Amino acid sequence: MPTTGSCHCGRISYSLAEDPPTRAMACNCSICRRKGYLHHFTTPARFTLKSSRDDIQVYSFKTHAVRHQFCKTCGCAPFAEGLGSYGEPIIEINLRCVDGLDVGGLEIISYDGASR
Ligand SMILES: [Zn+2]
Repeated sequence: MPTTGSCHCGRISYSLAEDPPTRAMACNCSICRRKGYLHHFTTPARFTLKSSRDDIQVYSFKTHAVRHQFCKTCGCAPFAEGLGSYGEPIIEINLRCVDGLDVGGLEIISYDGASR
């Protein structure tokens, strides 16, 4: 079953060729703790952006390895793009923006990004 997600106003939407995840990674780094991200990682081949990049603002910092995407209108951040540990392109899905997903039912894996 494909998974879909969107920002609050709907200008950013995507589909993911996977079942909805049951686990999420919660990170305590400077941006994740402020944004409240619940991460799921996938590959660009499974991710289809269904909206225009014109509606998306990109934010990156420090090493600029991750390009955090958020809606220019509503500010929600449904996904990010970056590089994995072997330099491969990855997509980070913010599970808080997945359509119909009960985030309270997710198994949460904590990640100490603040110490890295
Ligand atoms: Zn929006």
